[in-house]
Amino acid sequence: MQIIDGKKVSAQVKEEVKRQTLELKETHGITPGLAVVIVGDDPASRVYVNNKKKACEFVGFKSEEYALPAETTQEELLNLVETLNNKKDINGILVQLPLPKHLDDKAVIEAISPLKDVDAFHAVNVGKIMLGEYDFLPCTPAGVMEMLHSYNIEVSGKNCVVIGRSNIVGKPMAMLLLHENGTVTICHSRTKNLAEICSQADILVAAVGRPKFVTADMVKEGAVVIDVGMDRDENGKLCGDVDFENVKDKCSFITPVPGGVGPMTISTLMKNTLKACRIQNNI
Ligand code: NAP
Repeated sequence: MQIIDGKKVSAQVKEEVKRQTLELKETHGITPGLAVVIVGDDPASRVYVNNKKKACEFVGFKSEEYALPAETTQEELLNLVETLNNKKDINGILVQLPLPKHLDDKAVIEAISPLKDVDAFHAVNVGKIMLGEYDFLPCTPAGVMEMLHSYNIEVSGKNCVVIGRSNIVGKPMAMLLLHENGTVTICHSRTKNLAEICSQADILVAAVGRPKFVTADMVKEGAVVIDVGMDRDENGKLCGDVDFENVKDKCSFITPVPGGVGPMTISTLMKNTLKACRIQNNI
């Protein structure tokens, strides 16, 4: 059994983005810029935004943070997105989700220019992912693929099971596995015989949002288990969707939480912002 070290892979990706960013500065005098918009004071969102800022500093991007009060109106938020769409030194716009309940996530995402949609949540980018002709990939599923590549884990012909069908994780995850010729099954809350389906997976990706949901009986001997979950256990401690301690010995590879998928999400965001900058400057 090998534990997949997301921190290590993420650090390698960020080093490469840093190198290319420096090169871009030297050859074209351009610095990629990322704007992060956060509305309200959700503590988890605050942690994510701070981590994104730190990653920008590390790779040498310009980063702008727009921290808006919880009572911000839809119109004010859409106006800010429009301003950022037109700002030349900003190449990527990220609106931290979830937004407070009175705001319409979908309308805000659709207002972001697809060229600056570094989360790849806009319908144009989602459509491109379906067609396999994408500029940006959604950060978490793309981070998972990067980890699989980094550990030379072949997807082609494998039985892949994704638990979860959200627009930001489950669905695009399944699509990326399909693009690499996996045979993909998507499970969700209405799936019958979930444990049986999971126990046939060569590659099992859990994106459920329930602590320690995947138990040892659901995992095939020698499977690759990827845990996207960021949950809290009964003591309030961060854990994943997989019962790591009891599952790990059955796996060929497994990701821990923390230190697995989480760090990959941010390094993919850095990659996407660099790519957005290149596209916007025709480089
Ligand atoms: P979500 O929108 O709540 O989706 C959860 C999915 O799990 C849904 O499709 C749901 O099915 C399915 N599900 C729930 N209970 C189930 C059950 N008993 N059996 C089978 N399927 C079940 O969550 P999400 O945004 O995809 O996030 C999933 C997890 O990943 C969360 O823990 C989140 O914190 C974490 N996450 C981590 C990162 C990272 O960077 N590491 C990024 C994003 C999310 P239905 O569709 O039928 O309701």
